[in-house]
Amino acid sequence: MNLLKERIENACERLKLTEPIDHLREIAEEAATKELPYPEFLIRLLEREVAAANERATTALMRFASLPFYKTLEDFDFPFQASIDKKQILELANLSFVEHGDNVIFVGPPGVGKTHLAIALAIEAARARQKIRFTTLADMVGSLQRAFEVGNLSQRLLAYTKPKILVIDEVGFLPLDRAQSSLLFQVICQRYERGSIILTSNKSYGEWAEIFSGDEVIAAAILDRLLHHSTTISIRGESYRLREKKKAGLVGTKGGDAMTKN
Ligand code: ADP
Ligand code: MG
Repeated sequence: MNLLKERIENACERLKLTEPIDHLREIAEEAATKELPYPEFLIRLLEREVAAANERATTALMRFASLPFYKTLEDFDFPFQASIDKKQILELANLSFVEHGDNVIFVGPPGVGKTHLAIALAIEAARARQKIRFTTLADMVGSLQRAFEVGNLSQRLLAYTKPKILVIDEVGFLPLDRAQSSLLFQVICQRYERGSIILTSNKSYGEWAEIFSGDEVIAAAILDRLLHHSTTISIRGESYRLREKKKAGLVGTKGGDAMTKN
């Protein structure tokens, strides 16, 4: 038995399989007790390995994604945010927008769940084995600027253009100068109709020129590509963070309106 075990272990190692060794005895015992046919025993063993391989792949994708937090659609309280059409979000979670390289843009004030939903959709894509990457606009532009300074821009751009989904969070908090705007423009152009962008912003499109230090031409050029194939989810509810604070009695209870739909 020991020799057999050793041979199994060697074969598993050679094939880079991990699960069968751990679970072989358990599954073998179950098969013996239930008198399962050999093919049934084999498929249970293989399915265990497939599940483990899927989990490893998703973990690797998640590590690459650099998500700031892990929140899923199941964690989202839809009734709280009445301005969001749950059906529309669940439809996006089917990921056909990713197949077409379309974009999704969440617009709204702070705390209403823009980043949460962007991450949740990205997680759905990672579960479907798509490569995703999360960045804030400030981090992305900073990183591209540093790369430009050392003559490494095209290489660095790949980090933002290759993933199937790029989440660009917090567009609008910090204004970009001309050089920074042009870096964002390059990312958007290179992804145009090829890879999806999920973007969050606290600014409505009419205010976007402000993001580019008043440069309406570049704002229009960026919006033109970004919005060509896109869904905008406009959230106009109350901040979830404030609600938590209100519940804890830390701030007053003046509510926000939550009834508009895009
Ligand atoms: P935004 O990006 O719009 O500023 P976030 O997505 O960062 O807001 O949300 C702030 C916090 O509140 C996060 O921890 C998020 O998970 C949580 N949150 C926001 N809206 C909801 C919601 N409707 N249901 C559950 N959690 C929510
Ligand atoms: Mg946010």
